[in-house]
Amino acid sequence: MNTINLHNDADHTSSSNRYSRQLLFAPIGATGQAKLAAARVAIVGMGALGTVLSNHMARAGVGFLRLIDRDFVEQSNLQRQMLYDEADADASEPKAMAAAKRLQQANSAITLEPIVIDLNALNAESLLSDVDLILDGTDNFSVRFLINDVSAKHRIPWIYGGAVSSRGVSLTIIPGTTPCLRCMFGQSPAQGTAETCDTAGVIGPIIHTVASHQSTEALKLLVGAHEQLNRKMVHWDLWHNQHAAVDVSKARKADCPACALERYEYLEQDLGEDTIQTLCGRNSVQIQPLQAGSFHLEEWAAKWEPLGRIELNPFLLKFHINETLTLVLFPDGRILIQGTNDPSQAKSLYSRYIGM
Ligand SMILES: [Zn+2]
Repeated sequence: MNTINLHNDADHTSSSNRYSRQLLFAPIGATGQAKLAAARVAIVGMGALGTVLSNHMARAGVGFLRLIDRDFVEQSNLQRQMLYDEADADASEPKAMAAAKRLQQANSAITLEPIVIDLNALNAESLLSDVDLILDGTDNFSVRFLINDVSAKHRIPWIYGGAVSSRGVSLTIIPGTTPCLRCMFGQSPAQGTAETCDTAGVIGPIIHTVASHQSTEALKLLVGAHEQLNRKMVHWDLWHNQHAAVDVSKARKADCPACALERYEYLEQDLGEDTIQTLCGRNSVQIQPLQAGSFHLEEWAAKWEPLGRIELNPFLLKFHINETLTLVLFPDGRILIQGTNDPSQAKSLYSRYIGM
């Protein structure tokens, strides 16, 4: 009997074979590939954009990827969040962990650092200042303005991306060279004023369009092809066949608080009390206690067990209070109340069941 071994090269970390098509692409080549292997990238948000971004970066051979996300996988993610499957949703697997597992299967030669955390003013600098590039996979402006502050302060480029409905936008931001997010938008829009995913929905293809554009810009930056970067703010509407690139080269502001005056207001904002936040499109409220705690999930599971159905994995505890309300507790004390958009109801449930 004849057997045919199509994979004579058993060493799957052999980089010349793995990256052969990318090595043939002259602007990257062997020199660029070595730069990618040495590069460190942080991806903030491992939802729709983040899964596409991290997939491109991991497969391209970026040597270190930090995956930052506060959420766990749910059924409604599977339509567009391309690294997750039904088993991840059934297990309420944190997105950062599920993504790292999948990406490591795709490329065992790179280092992945999944972090299940809510990026905020207290932790943003330590999570984002030791990388070469920050990629935006978030869905909200408060986090983007934090990223922008870290970027300006530490002179780290970042690539803004956003998608809603069938529309998307992206901008490559290089501190000191291009306008930053504050030059462009001033300040973070108040919560509820920007169109969000709960009112408009989103289709999968626009995610890939935006994230693939961001990823291409990332590859250019990481291999040092700065002259090829797209200096325009790019917009798409895939459903209505529109594409525009807006010249923003004159948009740098001499009085920009972040990139000109070095005032990092989002980074330095006073988190004087617990933050309570209604989450975009999630029918959920997040409560982040000011002091990160250390919660033993098993103990809380035992405490709530008589009161409702419990689901527990190493990263989170779900307590189904009733048919509609679910409380999700993370080990650092962060809480999600699912089933409500009302911060005061969330706060009262928090006091009732956590009792602080
Ligand atoms: Zn600026």
